Amino acid sequence: MLIDIKTISQSTGAWQAIEIESQPEDFDLSSLGYHLVRPLLFRGRLQNTEDGVLVLEGQVALTYEGECARCLRPVRRSLNLAVSERYLPAGETAADDEPGYSYSGGHVDISQAIRDSVLPVLPGRLVCQESCRGLCPHCGIDLNEQDCRCAADHHSGLSPFGQIKILL
Ligand SMILES: [Zn+2]
Ligand SMILES: [Zn+2]
Repeated sequence: MLIDIKTISQSTGAWQAIEIESQPEDFDLSSLGYHLVRPLLFRGRLQNTEDGVLVLEGQVALTYEGECARCLRPVRRSLNLAVSERYLPAGETAADDEPGYSYSGGHVDISQAIRDSVLPVLPGRLVCQESCRGLCPHCGIDLNEQDCRCAADHHSGLSPFGQIKILL
């Protein structure tokens, strides 16, 4: 997500509107078990403030998909998120010690800032609906669709899977 800053880099106060996408294959969410369904979109602006500090502000919109933690069916969620970050010229530290990203040359790559904003906000697990009954741990039937007899059998000690467990 590379932004050309030629038009604003020479004058303090100058800003440019930004609309930029990241393709799903470039925005990896596999560590969470999710993937983007369509390109992520950032819309906002980048302003050249004092001392070459660039301030990025805008909104990220993404739609991602993962598995329901209970029934394993695909679950799709959308997220809109405000992003506010800043970029210091490489090698410089901010006078106020506030953390920031750095840039050098005629471009700013905002990918890392977007990732750092999005990842902490994503849930650790997805559930298709709060009332999801999940899969039976014994026979694997989707209990949202039908009931099984495992619970009853388990209590009476007749579950074949229960016996396999004991043998193992
Ligand atoms: Zn579910
Ligand atoms: Zn069952």
